[in-house]
Formats: sequence, C-alpha cells, structure tokens
Amino acid sequence: MGTPERVANVADGTVLVTSSKKRRICANELTKVATLLGGVQGCRAKTLSCPMAEIAPSSYCAHAVDHPFHGPYHDHEYGFPVRDDRRLFERLCLEMNQAGLSWLTILKKKDGFRRAYDDFDPAIVAAYGEVERARLLADPGVIRNRLKVDAAIHNAAQILEIQEEHGSFADWLDAHQFMKNEVHQRPREKAEWVKLFKKTFRFTGGEITGEFLISTGYLPGAHDPACPVHERIAELDPPWMRAGLQP
Ligand SMILES: [Zn+2]
Repeated sequence: MGTPERVANVADGTVLVTSSKKRRICANELTKVATLLGGVQGCRAKTLSCPMAEIAPSSYCAHAVDHPFHGPYHDHEYGFPVRDDRRLFERLCLEMNQAGLSWLTILKKKDGFRRAYDDFDPAIVAAYGEVERARLLADPGVIRNRLKVDAAIHNAAQILEIQEEHGSFADWLDAHQFMKNEVHQRPREKAEWVKLFKKTFRFTGGEITGEFLISTGYLPGAHDPACPVHERIAELDPPWMRAGLQP
C-alpha cells in the first residue's frame, strides 16, 4: 500500500492505476473517494492522488468505508469539532454507554438514545426522577444499565453547573485546553483531561474520556492522516490543531 496510487477517470468509475500494479476498484469506492475530495465534478478530467491508498488497513478509517453505520459516523461526525452542548452531552453519554460493548451496538441505538434522552437536553435530563429512570431501564432502544443511566443524569446536572459558570460545555472544554502557570502554557495532556473529567463527571475513565475528546476534536488521532476526512477536519481548525498538537 505504500506507493501513492493515481485515480483516473473518477467520474467514469473504473480505472485505478498504481505505480506497482493495476487493480480495479468498484464504482462505489471511486465515487466515495471523489465525493470526499470535493465532488465528482471537481475530479473529472483530473488525475488525482488516491488518498485511500495510504490508509492503514487496521485503522478505523479503513474499517468504516461503506459500512452502513460506521461509514456515516466516520465521514460526518468522528473527529469533527462540536460546539452544541446537546451534541457534546450526547457524545459523552454514547462513549460512556459503550463501556463493555461494541461501538457498533451504540451507533445502531443512536436514534433510540436521542428519543429516550430527550435529544440530550441537559436541563431535561438533569431533572429526570424515578419515573424517567424506570422508563430508561425498561427501554430496549438504549443500554439498560443502572450505573450508566444514573451517570447520564448526574452528568447532565454537572453540565448545567458548567453552563452557569462558563457559558457552555464547549467553552468549559476550551477553557481547560491548556495547562498554565505564570511563565508559559502548554496543551493539556490526556492524563490531565482524565483527572479533570473524573473530578467533574461520573463514569469517565481513561478510555471514555480519551475517546470523547478525540471524537469531538479536542485530542488528535481520530483519522489516519491519509484519510480524506482528516483533510476536511483540518480545514475546520479543530481544537487539537489550534492547541498546536500533532496528528
Ligand atoms: Zn478517516
């Protein structure tokens, strides 16, 4: 896979030329590459470096291609900066609910989660009482785990406090991106984020916090640098890039 591949006639959808060998890839794969690069129109009549050729086969990027659930998440959500507090709270809840389960299980239940948790409005979830707890624990559309349900409600209340003090969950994350002393500042490291999250939220261990921060653009590593989505995210100047961290 090491040699850059060249795609020709992307719009016609058939020819992929490599310097070492020729192989044909399906029209879908070509269309996907073309779309990710800015649309088939833009690719027509051009010869392009094929970004998919460089992606590590073991990466999430390679795994997600054309997958009915991983594909859309990979292409439009994973690693993209998030400013909306509902979506941040949602991502935190989903990552937390994944513990012990596959990410695919969670992605399949994403709509169910949104419905059951009132579109992750922290003010509504923070006010959940016994009736709502019982409802969630009986809903097959979500993960029926008492600790996870309780943590979501607790964390919603924490986000309300954060909003009160910092304006928004997103602003709170931004405010904690750097470790500062009188002399200089440096980007907060993952272990320091985990410490902060453990102090602030429930059910936020190293893996959950790390994945939350990667998936929302606060830590690098969501996409293989050769992935076309990596390029798209870079154009949005995600928080990890603003902080000067390397992919
Ligand atoms: Zn990717």
